[in-house]
Amino acid sequence: MADCIFCMIIDGRIPSAKIYEDARVLVFLDINPVVPGHTLVVPKTHCRMLWDAPTEALEACSAVLKRVAAALMTGLAAEGLNVVQNNGAVAGQEIEHVHFHLIPRYRGDGFKVPWPARPYPEGALERTLAKIKAAL
Ligand code: AMP
Ligand code: ZN
Repeated sequence: MADCIFCMIIDGRIPSAKIYEDARVLVFLDINPVVPGHTLVVPKTHCRMLWDAPTEALEACSAVLKRVAAALMTGLAAEGLNVVQNNGAVAGQEIEHVHFHLIPRYRGDGFKVPWPARPYPEGALERTLAKIKAAL
């Protein structure tokens, strides 16, 4: 995709702090880290949303996610790690090329994922479950 920043990074038109690359996946440091070491795992195939992505591209990302997560834990002495994957502007996606954020975590690092959990109203769990299963 000509105007996609991540495609430009994959093509080498924009520089990146590259951690790992193979035929299907590129891994580089996020330019604006939430926590130092914040890393992006990106399939080389341009696809906008998780559900658009070819399964083999996601499988390749999955294997690399595991390997890079382990490297962040040991290499940066992280105490924990978040995997974040945003789809759509409403979900906070700024770059419409599927990517996974790997964020190393430390006690007191100041990052908190806003997670305002609340219980379902009466009957809503069953209705939600039925809609998802019908679409699967
Ligand atoms: P998202 O909001 O999930 O689409 O995340 C996009 C991420 O890409 C943000 O965390 C940005 O900081 C990061 N980003 C944008 N441009 C670059 C770039 N040229 N190199 C590395 N990371 C970038
Ligand atoms: Zn792209």
